[in-house]
Amino acid sequence: MSLIVQKYGGSSVADATSVKRVARRIVDTKKSGDEVVVVVSAMGDTTDELLDLANEVSPLPPGRELDMLLTAGERISMAVLAMAIHDLGAEARSYTGSQAGLITDSAHGAARIIDVSPGRISEALAEGAIPIVAGFQGVAQDSKDITTLGRGGSDTTAVALAAALNADVCEIYTDVDGVFSTDPRVVPAARRVPFITYEEMMELAAVGAKVLHLRCVEYARRFDLPIHVRSSFSSKEGTWVMSPEAITRAIEEGRAMEQPIISGVAADVNDAKVTVVGVPDKPGQASAIFRALADAGINIDMIVQNVSAAATGRTDVTFTCPEGSVQQAMEAINARREAIEFESLTVDEHIAKVSLIGAGMRSHPGVSADFFQALAETGINVEMISTSEIRISVVTRVDDSTKAVQALHSAFGLDADGEAVVYAGSGR
Ligand code: ADP
Ligand code: ASP
Ligand code: MG
Repeated sequence: MSLIVQKYGGSSVADATSVKRVARRIVDTKKSGDEVVVVVSAMGDTTDELLDLANEVSPLPPGRELDMLLTAGERISMAVLAMAIHDLGAEARSYTGSQAGLITDSAHGAARIIDVSPGRISEALAEGAIPIVAGFQGVAQDSKDITTLGRGGSDTTAVALAAALNADVCEIYTDVDGVFSTDPRVVPAARRVPFITYEEMMELAAVGAKVLHLRCVEYARRFDLPIHVRSSFSSKEGTWVMSPEAITRAIEEGRAMEQPIISGVAADVNDAKVTVVGVPDKPGQASAIFRALADAGINIDMIVQNVSAAATGRTDVTFTCPEGSVQQAMEAINARREAIEFESLTVDEHIAKVSLIGAGMRSHPGVSADFFQALAETGINVEMISTSEIRISVVTRVDDSTKAVQALHSAFGLDADGEAVVYAGSGR
């Protein structure tokens, strides 16, 4: 008998019919002899609708109240799913994140899990019931206020619970058949990736492949917990996210093929580019800029500093950050004008970050050459470049991002023969 944590995303429980379909799947898992704990997201686009509502009421809602509002979405789905399971003759009990023992810090909207004490979940399991846990939420250790883990955070709830309960596997059920070589909603020729390492999946998640929440993969890696990403609309095998050692074992046992050099391509259109123009080229200026941003709690990504103009001794410093942080970033830099001595600030929100990920880059020369050649042949201008050991990212015009993803996907031989199936979801 295995202990399986199953997480169902919003598109899998979008309406009453879907909830009943998922309930059947859960009851079948239990009937086949496994123990099952369920984590559920808000139905369909509920979270977006609640956010729209909050923004209609207030341009800047307090984090505490916004979190309280958003967690209502998952409460609805956990209760209706428990009802549907009861209807099939099995016992289910729903729990909020707080009741399930998900203790977080108090960073509203982006809380981190600091402890999981799932006593009530273990009790329910021992009594033969199926626990249904509301994803994406917890309770702050200090303030005891309700928190959320950030968009897509139900994945992290599921992995954190699976780790705390010592589960055998965490299954993430979504609206596509697993992790693909790129977003199948954008490139229908995307190919399912049967096995991927935690490290590559983390890079993919970090650069915009929203199929898994970044922190959920970090968590799984820490506990060496296998994740199986698959569709709730089919019974197909999906994608296994595992350690390199586990994948090597699977290859030796003939369950997996040799790993490809490149695992995927992703685009993120939610970043903006900020340029601090005319910064004196002398020690301490970059430090002053990035200290101001750090103090304001802004996450920055790429950084480029131009060569300074000989005539003026001044240079431009450009960085990217989430679009939602631009206003705050400008205020933070403007507030330190005396220390930074820059001439002006410019913002460009029409950018995309396009990335290629693959552990094989470490040992295969020529990947960068092929990458830039593919973009050049498509007539795409590169505005910024950054790399890690297993990733190359560039900033392009936002209108070029789909073309860039398609060009790279083809150039690296990732195109599949058939079309990927997208079963549901609005892609919002
Ligand atoms: P859920 O509601 O189940 O959590 P999400 O919308 O968060 O689902 O994530 C699934 C979506 O992620 C897919 O519908 C797909 O459009 C998108 N996606 C982006 N990149 C990828 C990728 N590389 N592989 C699979 N799906 C991806
Ligand atoms: N409902 C939340 C969201 O839409 C959490 C999740 O789906 O994982 O972001
Ligand atoms: Mg998701």
